[in-house]
Amino acid sequence: MKEQVDQRALDKFTYGLYVVASRNGDRINGLVVNTVVQVALNPTLVSVTINKNSLTNEFIRKSGVLAISVLTQDTPLEFIGRFGFRSGREFDKFAGVNYELGITGAPMLTDYTVAQIEARVRERIDCVTHDLFVAEVVAARVIREAEPLTYSYYHLVKKGKTGKGAPTYREENKAQTKVKKNEGSIKMRRYVCSVCGYVYDPSVGDPENGIPAGTPFENLPAEWVCPVCGATKDQFEPEE
Ligand code: FE
Repeated sequence: MKEQVDQRALDKFTYGLYVVASRNGDRINGLVVNTVVQVALNPTLVSVTINKNSLTNEFIRKSGVLAISVLTQDTPLEFIGRFGFRSGREFDKFAGVNYELGITGAPMLTDYTVAQIEARVRERIDCVTHDLFVAEVVAARVIREAEPLTYSYYHLVKKGKTGKGAPTYREENKAQTKVKKNEGSIKMRRYVCSVCGYVYDPSVGDPENGIPAGTPFENLPAEWVCPVCGATKDQFEPEE
């Protein structure tokens, strides 16, 4: 057999989706990951893989603590985008979000959350672009009886996208949004954000950002950005 790596084979892995958060003094930050796994029972250990460029990675290294919020299946894309497609370096991800601080001081979500798990890092394993943190669980609770969100549900049902920092990111993500030209009623066409998958629907507008329903994409102000990830207008493509 020839040695070759077809990433599509790795895409057959199944995952969940979580917000992993940490703190650095008074500052808190978190991000969306699909890489949480329980690796031992006695003691109860979990592993989490985090991109080295992320602020949350820096916070986990400094504080040695992390909190995992298990997301519910009905978590809105906007909520996932807030933690998944923006950097805590330029945006306070927890502003306006309901959360509580655990015994480690790490923040745990209370909305769209099935369970909260807190852990202290025992080991950091260098994975080139990422760090694999092995951490001992010090507190865990179920806060809501709801279906947890899986990675495949996020992609197939919610039409969510994968952030560039994730090990499961594929270049093909962008190519999946095909542009169909010469279609009728251009003025009211829906547009898709090529970064996060948010769909701008003219019949809904973006009321939270002052865009009334009935505003065609073409008429959005030039400074308008994706409400989920902050991408600019030119990063949108007409929906197929
Ligand atoms: Fe976006």
